[in-house]
Amino acid sequence: MEDLLARAAAAERGYLLLDYDGTLVPIAARPDLARPGPGLIELLARLAGMPGWRVAVVSGRTVEDLRRLLPVAGLYLVGVHGAERAAPGEEVERVCDPAFREALRRLVGAADELARPEEGFVLEDKGAALALHYRQAAPSRAAEVGRRFARLARARLPAGTWRLLAGKKVLEIRPAGTDKGRAVAGLLAGYPGALALYFGDDVTDEDAFRTVRRLGGIGVLVSPVARPTSARYRLDGPSRVREFLERLLVSCTEMGCGGRGLPTQEHKGRGDGRVG
Ligand SMILES: [Mg+2]
Repeated sequence: MEDLLARAAAAERGYLLLDYDGTLVPIAARPDLARPGPGLIELLARLAGMPGWRVAVVSGRTVEDLRRLLPVAGLYLVGVHGAERAAPGEEVERVCDPAFREALRRLVGAADELARPEEGFVLEDKGAALALHYRQAAPSRAAEVGRRFARLARARLPAGTWRLLAGKKVLEIRPAGTDKGRAVAGLLAGYPGALALYFGDDVTDEDAFRTVRRLGGIGVLVSPVARPTSARYRLDGPSRVREFLERLLVSCTEMGCGGRGLPTQEHKGRGDGRVG
């Protein structure tokens, strides 16, 4: 973490790109239970207010959902893995094919019959995507229902307009041509010269890790165990992400980022002072 912090604090301008579930907040049994921890909203607001820095939340959730969970005025938001985006205070922009959305809307009723809540399934209609959560379902039922969900998509959706992706205990039908990597490239194009730091925990974050690496930024995998990844660093979990963000804020507000001062040395005495 010291090396990462020193690099971030040395940047003249930076872009914090943060996944939500499993990164800013622990994964919960149901998506609606993953609420921001105490002080997280205030922390993000203060980070978004740091001179030279932008902060974005890049999630599979809808922008509407993110705005409800994180009522922070200065955040850039990417929802539904890039199918939705919104600048601070602006309307949501949707980047998927209207024909796909219409076909998906018609598929929801049939999928709803498959995903029985009493068996532990949660079907989430995101408008531009449809997610089948099976965290609380029996594994054998999850496999069977998952196969039927995929078959339904193949039968009802126009070929080439969609993709089926597997995340953490979720299967999701998404518009083709959208992923977190493209979304992040779009955000960075709007803020040239910024050091990009992308934090994410899931396979869907790998597109973003590759994009930031290509653009000279840094990926941070949030996981208690190592795994093959395009991220350069790893933090154990959301509490470590939180610690990093708090320390970056201290470095930048008390010492000044981008060579305007020295990074904090107060934690564990291992700040390596590469700023200068
Ligand atoms: Mg996540």
